[in-house]
Amino acid sequence: FFITFEGGEGAGKSTQIQRLAKALQDKGHDVVVTREPGGSPGAEAVRHVILSGAAEPLGPEMEALLFTAARSDHVEQLIRPAVERGAIVLCDRFLDSSRVYQGITGNLDPQFMAGVERVAINGMMPDLTIILDIDPAVGLRRAAARRGADVADRFEKETVDIHRKRREAFLDIASREAERCIVVDASAEPDAVETAIAGAVFAAIDA
Ligand code: C5P
Repeated sequence: FFITFEGGEGAGKSTQIQRLAKALQDKGHDVVVTREPGGSPGAEAVRHVILSGAAEPLGPEMEALLFTAARSDHVEQLIRPAVERGAIVLCDRFLDSSRVYQGITGNLDPQFMAGVERVAINGMMPDLTIILDIDPAVGLRRAAARRGADVADRFEKETVDIHRKRREAFLDIASREAERCIVVDASAEPDAVETAIAGAVFAAIDA
């Protein structure tokens, strides 16, 4: 079973993934926690290229193709083998982040994006996608507090308007692919967010 977590900066994805992993393990499930960009040795190397700024200026096509290469490796090296042996895979960001960050706010052609998505995932669609929804003003404050404002990565230095556009894009995906996606209010207390996620996940894996 393959579950992805999506949402803007500071939505609390990593905290909630850790909590869900523990809840699933407590019920005896084999759980694999992973993240993008990264998740396999090759993809972690690409993550460094993308996020360190080492390859600036990084054009949007280059960025999308690097994410594609990294995702393909991650899918084939880690995600598909884990799902096939019966594990529950929890992945911090996946194809919806590419649709939103590179596609919508990178202004890339939808057909180009659909093509690279197909190559990257090679049929490995998430069974369930949890979209952690938060006002970007709140999320960016949380993210800055976590990292220290001066070490915020290049994505966090963007304007709040861009983050608002991404929020709308995630919500738009959720409404168009409602059978795969659920939206959780990430501004609530962590325990309440955890309960909402656990409810959706246990319903889905027991179905
Ligand atoms: O999940 P996290 O916030 O740690 O992700 C690292 C960074 O990579 C984020 O700032 C996010 O904006 C960026 N990213 C991206 N496109 C993706 C996945 C992540 O721009 N497809």
